[in-house]
Amino acid sequence: MTARAAVIGAGPSGFYAAEHLLREGLAVDLYDALPTPYGLVRAGVAPDHPKIKSVTRIYEKTAQHPDFRFFGAVQVGADVTREELLDRYHAIVYAVGTSSDKALGIPGERRPGSVAAAEFVAWYNGHPSYADEAFDLSSSRAVVIGNGNVALDVTRMLVLDPAELAPTDVADHAIAALAGASVEDVVVLGRRGPAQASFTTPELRELGELTRADVVLDPAGLEPAAEAEDESPTVRRNLALLREYAARPLTGKSHRIELRFARSPIEILGKGEDGRVTGVRVSVNRVEAGRAVPTGDEEIIPCGLVIRAVGYRGRRLPGVPFDERRGLIRNDGGRVCEEGGSPCTGEYAVGWIKRGPSGVIGTNKKCAAETVGGLLEDLGRGQLDEPSAPDGEAIEAWLRGRVPGLVTWHGWQAIDAHERALGAPQGRPRVKLVRIAEMQGLAA
Ligand code: NAP
Repeated sequence: MTARAAVIGAGPSGFYAAEHLLREGLAVDLYDALPTPYGLVRAGVAPDHPKIKSVTRIYEKTAQHPDFRFFGAVQVGADVTREELLDRYHAIVYAVGTSSDKALGIPGERRPGSVAAAEFVAWYNGHPSYADEAFDLSSSRAVVIGNGNVALDVTRMLVLDPAELAPTDVADHAIAALAGASVEDVVVLGRRGPAQASFTTPELRELGELTRADVVLDPAGLEPAAEAEDESPTVRRNLALLREYAARPLTGKSHRIELRFARSPIEILGKGEDGRVTGVRVSVNRVEAGRAVPTGDEEIIPCGLVIRAVGYRGRRLPGVPFDERRGLIRNDGGRVCEEGGSPCTGEYAVGWIKRGPSGVIGTNKKCAAETVGGLLEDLGRGQLDEPSAPDGEAIEAWLRGRVPGLVTWHGWQAIDAHERALGAPQGRPRVKLVRIAEMQGLAA
């Protein structure tokens, strides 16, 4: 009998794991909590980066395999349990990503107007769970905390011209809200120096090419760079570009992006105890051996919106060992394990929930190879339990009983065709549906 695996999460790591498993002769059922596949490619990658999204063509090929099935709109942990899956599959591969935000742990962090990038990104990308969020974009200055690519993504989104957003697949509710936004200045805060920033050069270069925004950078802010100049090619390229930005005169564009380094947020200020954000109090740092050391000086940056882009964190799945400190499924090279290291038979992790929220989409390919390699080794050694109810048709019937709005690959193709058809007359790749019931209706 063909061994069957349940892969939980239809983002890049889930698809790469599925591809490897299928190639090795296993049958794969790919589950997702949403009716739509592709995870962060759909709900995370910035709308103005359509080329990155074309990676889904590879995933479409994987989905053509006769032993592949997609089960969308299934919440593992709610609609079906881990134990029920273990009864039906030889192995479960968790590819659920890291959907929560890392906390700053500073006073005022949860004030109205202080927003996690995870939520803001999901909102403008039309993730159904965030479609009804309303962000107050009425203030003239926003502060983005963090120096990663997510920080640069949200910064661009705040200053892109509506005409630049119009041909993208950004959610309709976000087009309207961003077009009416009053934000003109975005201050991007890095707690360490420019040489320690984690954004990559193409993303940094894009900031300097925006139609509506000038980049503002005080040359003195580049000083902490000197000690680390010979580090990596990315750091060298970033520093060269930043120097160019610092030397550029302002051209009088309507918007400005200010890059401010060596500043750690220490409090999100607001009116009263739980009142709206009015600013950020920051510690001025110096950088010593790559570390931020407070100088004792502080600054207050007045603003009405704070976006915290300091990294993501995984959420605990019921019954699955979780490393609370790292915010990941506890695992050893992809084999899920208990705290002492003893393996959980038949359970594996891949992608960001395995190794943390870093790397590009392609990084997940290697990551999936490692996880699936371990799974195959365990299977080959006879270490996986025989499931008690492995019949493929029975599994689908059981799921339909649990989730009346179950979405198969065929159903997703109907949603996809509908979204593309809505987008075509507007010259957009698609118009995203954001209501789960509407998607399920189309899929049915
Ligand atoms: P990231 O690259 O890890 O950046 C997180 C940033 O937050 C770092 O600058 C970090 O500074 C800062 N930070 C963390 N804790 C902080 C604190 N307490 N106070 C102040 N700053 C703090 O994470 P990300 O931007 O969320 O991106 C996640 C991954 O997705 C990355 O691998 C990224 O490259 C990738 N991604 C790629 C693209 C693209 O290719 N276009 C787009 C988006 C995301 P320290 O370094 O000092 O810790």
